[in-house]
Amino acid sequence: MSENKPFKLAGVMGMPVLQSRSPIIHNHWIREHGLSAAYGHFPVQIDRIEDAVRGLSALGLAGCNITQPHKLAAFGLMDQVSPLAQRIGAINCIVVQANGALHGFNFDAEGFIQSLRDERPAWRASDGPAVVLGAGGAARAVVCALIDEGAPEIRLINRTRDKADQLAQLDPRIVHALEWSQRHAALEGAALLVNSTNQGMYGQPALELSLDALPSTALVSDLIYVPLETPLIAAARSRGNTTANGLGMLLHQAVPAFESWFGVRPRVTAALRERVLATF
Ligand code: NAP
Repeated sequence: MSENKPFKLAGVMGMPVLQSRSPIIHNHWIREHGLSAAYGHFPVQIDRIEDAVRGLSALGLAGCNITQPHKLAAFGLMDQVSPLAQRIGAINCIVVQANGALHGFNFDAEGFIQSLRDERPAWRASDGPAVVLGAGGAARAVVCALIDEGAPEIRLINRTRDKADQLAQLDPRIVHALEWSQRHAALEGAALLVNSTNQGMYGQPALELSLDALPSTALVSDLIYVPLETPLIAAARSRGNTTANGLGMLLHQAVPAFESWFGVRPRVTAALRERVLATF
């Protein structure tokens, strides 16, 4: 460790959080760039999130990532929130400023778009209608990202219809909420399908969805990365659709976070992917 460079510390707060791959990603980059820094897991109970966030500055941390169940609660504890995180209504990254002020960001939208381009470099939101399943925190980031990228139409479908209706208010000309029962037929003519529910995640049942109406040219994205191959990804690939799993979003949302804390823009390389994949 260099003596004249201050040691910087960051981490991820959540509960549970020990399964998070973020320390592997950030510590890989810290080593790659020879920084005097470290990134750790911070398991924080729901009723201690305010104490934990308010302690960041006093402890001298550069900042931290925020994961479930704290994304909404942490939002309300920020001194300043980026315009995109304001629209999304949740943060996934805190940057401690030199004066101790806490700035909140949401880099999930950026990570999501980049994960699509990894699999289909020529992908454009203007390719056609998108179908988004889910209306939780991740879906909010996905919908904002697609609006900002110029999606002509977003068919938003959530088990609890009210939450889809609320999210559609982001831009009612583009985002149309539908009933959960309409999810199969809504795939007709879609250029993009995104699963941002938790269905298909480890410990959850598979997403119940018939892909019969989905064009074989559509790109299929599942935000889940445990497992990497969800039943949706497997079914989509077997019928010829290009697919993107949740690992790309996880890796790419980490890039701007790392840059905000440590002042270096890192790269998502094959070596990093291999390192993270080795943990599955
Ligand atoms: P969340 O806020 O808790 O939302 C969960 C969503 O799943 C809601 O829309 C919920 O619908 C839906 N859902 C739950 N049980 C369901 C069921 N039985 N049938 C149909 N829908 C159901 O969670 P989140 O933070 O948005 O995360 C959603 C997924 O995205 C998770 O799998 C998470 O791991 C993944 N994610 C990945 C990344 C990444 O970097 N790759 C980042 C963030 C999140 P209701 O509203 O009806 O409850």
